[in-house]
Amino acid sequence: MGKKLIFATNNEGKVNEIRQILGDGYEVYSLKDLDIHTNIVEDGKTFEENAQIKARAICRQTNEMVLADDSGFEVDYLGGEPGIYSARYLGEDTSYEIKNAEILRRCEQAKEEERTARFVCAIACAYPDGRVETTKGVIEGRLAYEPKGTNGFGYDPIFYLPERGCTTGEMEPEEKNKISHRGIALRKMVEKLNRLE
Ligand code: IMP
Repeated sequence: MGKKLIFATNNEGKVNEIRQILGDGYEVYSLKDLDIHTNIVEDGKTFEENAQIKARAICRQTNEMVLADDSGFEVDYLGGEPGIYSARYLGEDTSYEIKNAEILRRCEQAKEEERTARFVCAIACAYPDGRVETTKGVIEGRLAYEPKGTNGFGYDPIFYLPERGCTTGEMEPEEKNKISHRGIALRKMVEKLNRLE
């Protein structure tokens, strides 16, 4: 049996991704698996702080090793918005069709070289003894000129990867996972955990 680890998310897609990356050494449980309900206030100023807040809170509650992530979309022309407010941009319940259209509208005047953008993901691991480790993964690209693709979620249709010639919304999920900000941060965390254990 592997080491017990809780991934502080209700998103089964994320849990499966981390199970794949961690392999047999760990037994990964989601909040749903353990029937843990929380309402954590993510009031950090960075992705790293928010990931740490979540990991620490669940760790205190369970006394187990806990991983948590926080991610978002940064558009340089908008001074890094929506950033840590990606899920809340224009309101939590607003559709991504509307959020994406509004971002494109605000960037209408942006020239090609001003359209740099990225997905960022921070992962934190909190241990019952109080230690916290953090890693970060980034995928650099451009703001698209129009939404394209129906794969993925969130801002995927407006995030264009010049070297691939498509948006992440047009990529197959397995392909996106290979290069994603979350995958990069997770693999860095696995390296750290393996070194520490
Ligand atoms: P969370 O960290 O899962 O809460 O994600 C924050 C928000 O960032 C999501 O709701 C999306 O709006 C955005 N986001 C994070 N990763 C991605 C991605 O891979 N594609 C599209 N949007 C993303």
